[in-house]
Amino acid sequence: MKLIKKARQKINIVLLAVVMTFSSVQPIAAEQTTVVANKQVRIQDDFYTAVNEKWLQEAVIKPGYPSVSTFGELEDKCRVQLDAIFKQLFENQSQYKANSTERKMINLYNNYLNVEARNKTGITPIKSYMDEIKSAKDLSGITKLLNNLRIQQNTGLLNVGVGADLKDSTKNCVYINSTGLILSNSDYYTKDTEMAKTMKTAINTYLNKIAVLYGYSETGAKKKVDNAFKLDSMLAPSIIGQDEVTVDPNIYDRIYNVYTLEQLDQLAPNLKPSTMLKNIGLDKATKIILQEPEWLKALDKIYTKENVNIIKDALEIRFLYSTATLLGEKFENANKELAATLYGVEGETSREEQALNVISGIFSDEIGKLYVEKTFSKEEKEDVEALVKEIIANYKEKLQKVEWMSPETKTNAIKKLDTMTIKIGYPDKWMDYTDLDIKSIEEGSSLVENVFNIADWSFAKQVQSLNQPVDKTTFLISPQTVNACYNPSANDITFPAAILEAPYYDIHQSREANLGGIGAVIAHEISHAFDTNGSHFDEKGNVANWWTEQDYTKFEENTKKVRSFYSQIEVLPGQKVNGDLTVSENIADITAISCMLDILNKEKNPDYKAFFESWAKVWRIKSSEAYTEQLLQLDAHSPGKVRANAVVQQFEEFYEAYDVKEGDGMYVKPEDRLKIY
Ligand SMILES: [Zn+2]
Repeated sequence: MKLIKKARQKINIVLLAVVMTFSSVQPIAAEQTTVVANKQVRIQDDFYTAVNEKWLQEAVIKPGYPSVSTFGELEDKCRVQLDAIFKQLFENQSQYKANSTERKMINLYNNYLNVEARNKTGITPIKSYMDEIKSAKDLSGITKLLNNLRIQQNTGLLNVGVGADLKDSTKNCVYINSTGLILSNSDYYTKDTEMAKTMKTAINTYLNKIAVLYGYSETGAKKKVDNAFKLDSMLAPSIIGQDEVTVDPNIYDRIYNVYTLEQLDQLAPNLKPSTMLKNIGLDKATKIILQEPEWLKALDKIYTKENVNIIKDALEIRFLYSTATLLGEKFENANKELAATLYGVEGETSREEQALNVISGIFSDEIGKLYVEKTFSKEEKEDVEALVKEIIANYKEKLQKVEWMSPETKTNAIKKLDTMTIKIGYPDKWMDYTDLDIKSIEEGSSLVENVFNIADWSFAKQVQSLNQPVDKTTFLISPQTVNACYNPSANDITFPAAILEAPYYDIHQSREANLGGIGAVIAHEISHAFDTNGSHFDEKGNVANWWTEQDYTKFEENTKKVRSFYSQIEVLPGQKVNGDLTVSENIADITAISCMLDILNKEKNPDYKAFFESWAKVWRIKSSEAYTEQLLQLDAHSPGKVRANAVVQQFEEFYEAYDVKEGDGMYVKPEDRLKIY
């Protein structure tokens, strides 16, 4: 719900694909710019386009979305189920007690739909917070503000949270992450690129607009927004940018800096982080990890009485940025314009659809429980589980055969496979919403108040988990999410019920189609345990080196080839894939298909075409040009077409199945083909 990212983590769980991360309170839509040639494309020249030609011609991007894809289509399918669940909920609403989870969901849903109420209250729900920021007279006043959890969370100057210790994944500890920059990536402040200019101009315009809507004069708004960017520009050089994260092999050691409360205060005497941690209940931490000491030093240097006005203006703008879309239609419209500029989005989704997405995200387990009851059978769960086990067994064989890896490293790699936790469909235990307070508008609440309550509740759960063992049974993505993930710090793989649907998976479709769909997805997630990221984590999920030096050098040589191969692929005129940014996902794709082919090769008369075509179908996507450009800059995955084509090009089975020859568009010389494992 907040554009300024909270608890900006350098370490992310690895998702199968980027999904629309825009909150539904920032409705967006899309235009269609993908041009498909009318003449038939040969499979041998462009596999992806040839397989998906009809779909690419006919698929329509819905209003409110920047793209249409297999993922999006499955999300639509899932939404039909969620609609039915909600309909039922409303039919039974007279039975629900005041503090029941059902009542809370209905309250929030109605709350979200009631835009008239928001238009009427306008900025009132955030005014007291904004006034509090404005009234700070000096540094101690600002420090007091930062001790207020809601102000702290909605301004993102410091990002504090609880998470699994990177080097002892069984325990939870406190993380202090750097300032969530308005443009999200420090490279956009320190490097003069086209994308940086686009982002800065679009967001600057948006912030000025919402500051005027809040009630400032144009000059007043400009001064405040300029100061917000000024503060960011002062901090950005000390914050590690995305470009560096993608190429630094020692990034995990670099962001693992253990500090005591006293040491934090010594490093930042003006800010005194210990007081802030105490005020939000995190001072009892047995371990505090400061991700970027250079950033904290820089922030502390800026934290002086000379800069009080800059900091205050920045906090105001940041608070407004975080909450603006909850303040009624005028603010929503400004956000729509921003989405149109940045992502080429046109039109909007219905408010009911937005509400459903919001509720499904917040009450993810409650909705998830109802969703799996309706859609997911025990038989399917067992079938997919058997497939996962088969793929893991194949990986073991595969690793044993890797020529460049020593027996010592192989043993450690296989340990990761043996201890990997498999999560399929839905979690064994569900989240409890008893302590979450969601009141209706009639009871005097507002959308802003409810959203703040949700954030408070979520933070309180983090505080409770501090110094406690990490609960490794939870699902990081809900059952109704169309995606899959590998979590390196738990060494687990998750496949929610919503992705276990055709074309990925159908208990009744051919084995080859399932192997090219969900099989490849499973193999992709498993291989993240051994990609450029997962290679830094051991079988317990701890950052540790389990490689011999020689093996790691060879691994890096191989990955360099992957970086360079993908860097040469042009996606839009003059714009190529970022081979560094996408390296771990590309390795996962190549390794996945290699693994699935091992399995297929053992079968009697396997239908290779059905397998490869299933792979090409799951990655089809049509998106606005602006969105494609954004993804090229930000997404760790290569674009769908590249995922489909560049991967199959590496395998002899593909050349044989389709008689691909030198001179064909899909042809890559055998000596240039990529192989990691
Ligand atoms: Zn992945």
